Amino acid sequence: MEPILICPFCHAATRPTDYFCSNCGKNLRPKPLSTAVSKQILLYLGSLVLPPFGLIWAFPYLKQSDNKSRIIGSIVVILTIVSVVFTTKLTMSYISSIQAQMNGQMQGINGLNGLGDLNGLGDLNGL
Ligand SMILES: [Zn+2]
Repeated sequence: MEPILICPFCHAATRPTDYFCSNCGKNLRPKPLSTAVSKQILLYLGSLVLPPFGLIWAFPYLKQSDNKSRIIGSIVVILTIVSVVFTTKLTMSYISSIQAQMNGQMQGINGLNGLGDLNGLGDLNGL
């Protein structure tokens, strides 16, 4: 036999599986978070593309009592960390490649410096 719960709003009997009171329609308990595959894919992709949000999304899942939600939350956290590490590494290598390019250009400019000074004067002459 199912245990009978009482709606705190209208005191009608409700089933423990109900999220809303069948008598007054009030919210009895928060709906569980979706663990549908499509929702999971969205969460995982989102945490990879928008790393800081992954932690915000993962938090309510980690607070859930069922294992599935907690696992989803953990995966989102891991993906977020992987994404942050990857993005940081990518950014660092991008910056260093730009620096290398800049250095190359600077060296090129330095090589022409003797003429460069004269060119500067030439530009002023134009004025
Ligand atoms: Zn009710």
